[in-house]
Amino acid sequence: MITRDDIRELANFQSPEGCAITFYYQPSTLLNKSHREEAILVKDLIRDALREVEKHGKNGRTRADLERINQMVDPVRGNGGKAKAIFACGAQGFWREFDIPAQLLKPKVAISQRFHLKPLAAVLDGEQRALVLLADRTKARVFEMVNDSITEKEDFINELTRRGKSDGYAGYDAGHAERKQMNEAMQHFKLVAEHIEQYFERGGRDRLLIGCRDDVWSEIEPHLQSLAKQRLVGHFRIDPKVATPEQVKQMARDHLAEYNTGVKQDLIREVIGEAHRNGRGAIGLRRVLRSLETGEVLTLLLGSNFQAPGVKCYHCGHMDLHAAPECAVCGKENTELEDIGDAMVGHAIRTGVELVYVPDDEEFDRIGRIAALLRFRADQNTAEKAAS
Ligand SMILES: [Zn+2]
Repeated sequence: MITRDDIRELANFQSPEGCAITFYYQPSTLLNKSHREEAILVKDLIRDALREVEKHGKNGRTRADLERINQMVDPVRGNGGKAKAIFACGAQGFWREFDIPAQLLKPKVAISQRFHLKPLAAVLDGEQRALVLLADRTKARVFEMVNDSITEKEDFINELTRRGKSDGYAGYDAGHAERKQMNEAMQHFKLVAEHIEQYFERGGRDRLLIGCRDDVWSEIEPHLQSLAKQRLVGHFRIDPKVATPEQVKQMARDHLAEYNTGVKQDLIREVIGEAHRNGRGAIGLRRVLRSLETGEVLTLLLGSNFQAPGVKCYHCGHMDLHAAPECAVCGKENTELEDIGDAMVGHAIRTGVELVYVPDDEEFDRIGRIAALLRFRADQNTAEKAAS
């Protein structure tokens, strides 16, 4: 599984000789005719790349990398349907190989100065991480979920209740016993909430989801502390005593997906609104490119179907839409890019810009499939703003 650190390492890699190989391939799950056709298509792509390498007289190690990749594409056996990504540069002894989550991925073989990372924006953004707490008045269970895997980390019961029972206290009137129980439940929720808060204080970056019976939610909620409140996505109905990890995972994934969709739609609306009032929003490729280069971008929104040709100057890093042979900034030679999206994603990862991947969305298509939320606007300093 590819991690954020892996992706950062790939974004920072550079091959001045232009020998960085990017390879994406998703075999179909069925070992049928279409699988063989796909494999043959990918082998064609690799053969074309080999021909290019020879034409440009690149060194033998690039050739060896491509041949190694070629042998991994097997028209008979699949890769269990898993998408594969390989990043290699023989000249620097660099080889990284990842299974990435299944998604619609076009096969790709590219050789350039940087790795092509645009398809990984979906992987980065699609990561589902959550801490899931199940609680009732006497019990609590804590799960950690990362994508498809869920682990039950803790299972604690209300110690106060247990002690209360073993005390064998007799002679309480009914009201007193009930008050005692409520009080103990409250103490239990408080302890659980402290435990959860400590998890986030230790650096847990996950979202928080809580599963409980409907009538218990109002007793849990007031005890949540500040970090837990910030991370809380919502709560869902479940019986904490009998729920299986598989059920917990399903509920958590559904809730996270719904939450993420909502967050993205809000963000798109915010960016469009800000852009229209000349505020902290940039829409359209030209404007977003300029904002990326001036360091204004806080969050880059990239549509799943965004693609645009462009050029990049590897001397000063300038990216441009115009296919000029020379860089508009430093005058050195430009490199043509089939998709400037790859260069933008790499730039975003290197400079710590948050990436948001927008799957099919009509509103987003209308504004050009690329947008950014800005931290500031370089053309508006505060003095000018105050004066206006
Ligand atoms: Zn330049």
